[in-house]
Amino acid sequence: MLLNAEVDRIVGKGRVEGVMLRRDGGTSEVGCGNVLVCAGSVPQEEWLRGMGIAMDGILVKAGPDCATSVPGIFAAGDLVSRIKRIPQALATGEAAAYSAYKLLKDPYWK
Ligand SMILES: Cc1cc2nc3c(=O)[nH]c(=O)nc-3n(C[C@H](O)[C@H](O)[C@H](O)COP(=O)(O)OP(=O)(O)OC[C@H]3O[C@@H](n4cnc5c(N)ncnc54)[C@H](O)[C@@H]3O)c2cc1C
Repeated sequence: MLLNAEVDRIVGKGRVEGVMLRRDGGTSEVGCGNVLVCAGSVPQEEWLRGMGIAMDGILVKAGPDCATSVPGIFAAGDLVSRIKRIPQALATGEAAAYSAYKLLKDPYWK
């Protein structure tokens, strides 16, 4: 794994033979037979801020019960976790659903 490196260009004659990497102020060629492009994504969180939901960077601020700063709105999954994995999404999803159920049952939930 090469960290802090950026692909400058793909090199090869008629086929992929390597990539030129920008790294540590210079460029160097690393040989490879294939290139898999991971373009990434840009989070769209402006609408959450517009609703007055408190954020921590691009994450929604939520407690263990997944309650946000806006009463009655709960958040789960990649929105609330730096660990973006399915088990984390399941756990927070269950907590958010449970909290929403408790809120709806209030004042009958004891
Ligand atoms: C390529 C890739 C591979 C991954 N591999 C793994 C893996 O092997 N193991 C693992 O644990 N995790 C993996 N993950 C991470 C995992 O997929 C996420 O952490 C998890 O899916 C997050 O769940 P979520 O419910 O927060 O979001 P999502 O699963 O993204 O669900 C959000 C849903 O909301 C919908 N949606 C979005 N906007 C709106 C809207 N305006 N109105 C209505 N619906 C909307 C979307 O269509 C989507 O169905 C991978 C992620 C990627 C991208």
